[in-house]
Amino acid sequence: MDSPPIELGELVVEDGRIASLTAAKRSFPSDGIDFGDAILLPGLVNVHAHLDYTVMRGLLEDIPFFPWIRELNARKSALNQDDWVASATWGAAEAVAGGVTSIGDCSDSGAAMQGAIRLGLGGIVYQEVFGIDARLTVEAILTDLDKKVTALKASSQGTSVKVGISPHSPYTVRPDLMRALGTYALKNHLPLCIHAAESTAEAVLLRSGTGPIAEMFGRRSIAWNAPHSSSIEYLNSLGVLNEHTLLVHGIQVSSHDMDIMRASGSAMAHCPKSNAKLGNGVAPLELLSSSPPESKERILTSSVRIGLGSDSVASNNTMDMFEEMRFAVLMQRAARRSIEVLTAEQAVRMATLGGAEALEQESETGSLTPGKCANFCVVRLGGLQSSPAYNPYNALVYAAHASDVAATVIGGVMCYDANLSHQHTECFPDVDLSGLRIQLESAADQMRNWRP
Ligand SMILES: [Zn+2]
Repeated sequence: MDSPPIELGELVVEDGRIASLTAAKRSFPSDGIDFGDAILLPGLVNVHAHLDYTVMRGLLEDIPFFPWIRELNARKSALNQDDWVASATWGAAEAVAGGVTSIGDCSDSGAAMQGAIRLGLGGIVYQEVFGIDARLTVEAILTDLDKKVTALKASSQGTSVKVGISPHSPYTVRPDLMRALGTYALKNHLPLCIHAAESTAEAVLLRSGTGPIAEMFGRRSIAWNAPHSSSIEYLNSLGVLNEHTLLVHGIQVSSHDMDIMRASGSAMAHCPKSNAKLGNGVAPLELLSSSPPESKERILTSSVRIGLGSDSVASNNTMDMFEEMRFAVLMQRAARRSIEVLTAEQAVRMATLGGAEALEQESETGSLTPGKCANFCVVRLGGLQSSPAYNPYNALVYAAHASDVAATVIGGVMCYDANLSHQHTECFPDVDLSGLRIQLESAADQMRNWRP
């Protein structure tokens, strides 16, 4: 990501960090690993996931966005904390097996922290906050949040996972609470993550106070004064947009909104597959360009930090960052009717260094730069669908799958080694995942049998 690919390369790891990246030397070191015909690339950074919801994979399909999110929230009551931990741990294993080394995760139960740590992931776990109903005071919500943040910080001690907070969205967090959470985050040096400008239901609620969300507010006697603005303008007016804020989705945005994002320094999580599957649309990435329209280097020159996110497998079904890269390029090209809007190389950048920048962790990860953490993954070539390969970026984006990952190394530790077994769950050298499947299936049964 900071120099051209090396055709026959050698990466040296010392004390968990990258010591050098050069052309391979003639003598093969006795403690070296030859990955053969493969691409060794920076560890993938998935900037937006919900590991907790792994148990909801494929549970709610073909339901319009707003009823979908309402039912997803209602069904959370079916599980206990052990179930959530099993679900999040399974999801973290899926992430690592797919080459992910850092994650930006929004977690309601906090289980994502345990899952991420158990599998060795780095990144940020954001404690989710909901509160649209004024019957619970801001003080009560902040007191509860403070307890959860303290617990998350304690469990993340000595790991490379940081703690953030996630006021869920403009339609699930009321304005006085959103403002208070922004202040709380600044005071406690916590990064923020907010779902924003995702659906048309959200857009019309903010613009005119109408639509399905407004109707639900009416039924539940929730007070709502439409700000008559876009989501980005609204969040900016509440003081929650700054360089430590990650905005997720960004579909319903204008060039003015993008100017606000640029000026505030906020980053963006692009979730192309979730956006498509839930029928929410295609994020207008071309608006992020700071170069003239005729330039081919449009996204690369964007001054907004942008990373790729899978979103939860409840909406995406799999956490496969290769598929996410592929969707990013193909959706942009299809929607803009142009091949110049996004290249494979730009997609790989979004999935690695761009993601690290969006999480403000680019000094530690995102590229194979000497001095950074030894976070990388190895993608096997030579399969039926991956041979021949002429260009590494094209091979990764247009042909590779998460299942082609042969190894994932985090901080110099081999966290996933596909050579260990034909069973994915047995390929984690330091983690015994046996027993997890039973708990996951029992949690899935409770999901299946849940009734309102
Ligand atoms: Zn999300």
